[in-house]
Amino acid sequence: MTPRPVCVPCKREMYPKENGVTVLFNSKSFGPYQLFHADLWECNACGHQLITGYGHNPISEHGSPTFAEWAADAFITVEEQ
Ligand SMILES: [Zn+2]
Repeated sequence: MTPRPVCVPCKREMYPKENGVTVLFNSKSFGPYQLFHADLWECNACGHQLITGYGHNPISEHGSPTFAEWAADAFITVEEQ
């Protein structure tokens, strides 16, 4: 098993808070376009959270019949630069 993500300020391992959160990627030029499942981690000391551990493929993409339904329930929307 590989080490867990580490909170740099606290120098502590983080812990998985929720598996399978839905992450929506929103492109500045194109709009919402991809959804992934990933894991939400949290630092027990300071409460910092991060998302990592994405699935290999998106669970839905723009143009798919399920996209709007999944996108509406996304845990977080990431605004790409
Ligand atoms: Zn911390």
